[in-house]
Amino acid sequence: MNIAIASGKGGTGKTFVSTNLFKTFQSLGHSALLVDCDVECPNSLLFFDLKKLSDTIVKEYRPIIDTNKCVYCGLCYEYCEYNAIFYVPELKQIKLLDNLCHGCKACTVACKHGAIENSSTEIGQVSFFVDSEKHIFLEGRLKEGKIASIPIIKSTIKEALSLSSDFVLIDSSPGTSCPFIQTAVRSDYIVLVTEPTPFGLSDLKQAVETLDSINKNYGVIINRSGIGNIEVYDYLEKNKIPIIAEIPFSKEIARYYSEGKLAVSYLSEIKELFEEISNKIIKNGNSIS
Ligand code: SF4
Ligand code: SF4
Repeated sequence: MNIAIASGKGGTGKTFVSTNLFKTFQSLGHSALLVDCDVECPNSLLFFDLKKLSDTIVKEYRPIIDTNKCVYCGLCYEYCEYNAIFYVPELKQIKLLDNLCHGCKACTVACKHGAIENSSTEIGQVSFFVDSEKHIFLEGRLKEGKIASIPIIKSTIKEALSLSSDFVLIDSSPGTSCPFIQTAVRSDYIVLVTEPTPFGLSDLKQAVETLDSINKNYGVIINRSGIGNIEVYDYLEKNKIPIIAEIPFSKEIARYYSEGKLAVSYLSEIKELFEEISNKIIKNGNSIS
């Protein structure tokens, strides 16, 4: 079962839930893999004492325009949905704007003059780590200055699925744009982490609409319960969205998190709560599949 831990909004506690959930799955004896797909800012693995095993470089297609063969017809410019081709025919100027290119190859298909050659560029990597008990961890990381996070997410999840594990816990990118969707479509069940505040509710609604539009199954964890207001609860009840659990606001939890420690290893009530959360997620996921 692939389980994505996601949030419409950054800072709700997605990584806190992912890492503590993973530790709990392990302590309950499940075969689980933790995968950090928050590729623009991966930090889940900081909570574990790990040794890097290897990196797999992720590359993306790039066209190379041969100005000796180019007849400046402009077809590639017209085909490019991302405005990644700088084209001024009057001055016989044409060049690729690398940072805007999404590697879709439309320009290459469009060119009938053989003026575009195939090439690729490094955009990031998938790294494999291991802990002292030989558990494998994966991290996708976008290269600095690059913008194409989707191929990294796809590669990271593909690598994760090639490893035999009963549960793959995926720490997703925050927000509801393409990185979130790419993780969600590859998951069997999505855990949405929110907080009971107007901001939390606003972004939760967007996440719910997105997941409904791609027909995905999900439940909600309300983190830092006790703060904010009851609007999130009203929304969830009205829309019949299951609450997996509430995690109380606690300075102790925050302190352990800021020290890079897992609360389930230190706070018995949080350990028990995460055991309940794990069992509910497995039950919810299984009942759906
Ligand atoms: S590969 Fe796609 S995004 Fe890149 S320049 Fe060509 S058409 Fe534009
Ligand atoms: S489609 Fe080919 S020939 Fe036309 S402008 Fe682009 S690179 Fe040049």
